[in-house]
Amino acid sequence: MPGKTPPIVTCPHCGKEHQWDTSNPFRPFCSERCKLIDLGKWANEEYRVEQREPDSGNQETQA
Ligand SMILES: [Zn+2]
Repeated sequence: MPGKTPPIVTCPHCGKEHQWDTSNPFRPFCSERCKLIDLGKWANEEYRVEQREPDSGNQETQA
């Protein structure tokens, strides 16, 4: 669609808003730097998903 404005996305790393560009190999990041840094964090498990140990007897109270 000609003239269609690409959506504005937020860089997951630095939070910078930028236009979504399908020609940008670093999307959804704004730049190669942000992508590498963010992927590096994943590799180092800095972004570990918080895990809750299976804990019996800790059920939420239901009204
Ligand atoms: Zn960024």
